[in-house]
Amino acid sequence: MARVVVITGPSGVGKGTLIRALRDRIPELELSVSATTRAPRPGEKHGEDYWFLSRDEFEKRVDEGGFVEWAEYSGNKYGTLRSELDLRVADDRPVLLEIEVQGARQVAETMPEALRIFIAPPSADTLRTRLVGRGTDAKEAIDRRLQVSEEELAAQPEFPVVVINDRLEDAIDELTRVVREGIDEARSA
Ligand code: ADP
Ligand code: 5GP
Repeated sequence: MARVVVITGPSGVGKGTLIRALRDRIPELELSVSATTRAPRPGEKHGEDYWFLSRDEFEKRVDEGGFVEWAEYSGNKYGTLRSELDLRVADDRPVLLEIEVQGARQVAETMPEALRIFIAPPSADTLRTRLVGRGTDAKEAIDRRLQVSEEELAAQPEFPVVVINDRLEDAIDELTRVVREGIDEARSA
């Protein structure tokens, strides 16, 4: 049984940064490419960063049962395509989902064996600093994301594993350790 690993946490906490490092350390870990109705950011590629879908296309997939989970986040829809998971799980490859909290809750219901990890900031203020520093979102988008983050931070106790992303190298080490353990455990089960 291949392992499904879910990484969640508020926008700007460092999920993308940590996942890039994690995949360098555990190359067998495959990233599920999500679908979204959000417009691509400069440099983002269809099929690599996301499957960028129109709202109509996204809704059609929802009606067809094409998503393992999906959610509305900050004015757009995001979801994990069943096809992304089936392919990898069938080949016994561990799969990583980077999704927001509502989606992670759905996975807890439908795939209770998945390893669920919450990435937390050292303080709530850090999120604004990091989102502004990243420079990819307009001020209004940052404000919306920070509003959502209050609810997301409150969900932290629902997650069996919490990694605080304060010093980046420490967070990478801890995340790598937890994910490696999870993959090995699933293999020997
Ligand atoms: P997310 O994917 O959770 O929205 P990102 O990975 O895009 O977050 O990180 C947001 C910003 O914070 C980026 O500019 C990234 O370089 C920076 N960042 C990530 N982790 C740290 C850290 N531990 N310390 C300082 N800055 C960080
Ligand atoms: P962003 O617009 O910054 O790429 O992503 C916004 C939020 O959507 C992030 O919290 C990210 O984890 C989440 N997200 C990305 N893909 C999915 C998905 O497939 N499902 C869900 N539920 N959330 C997702």
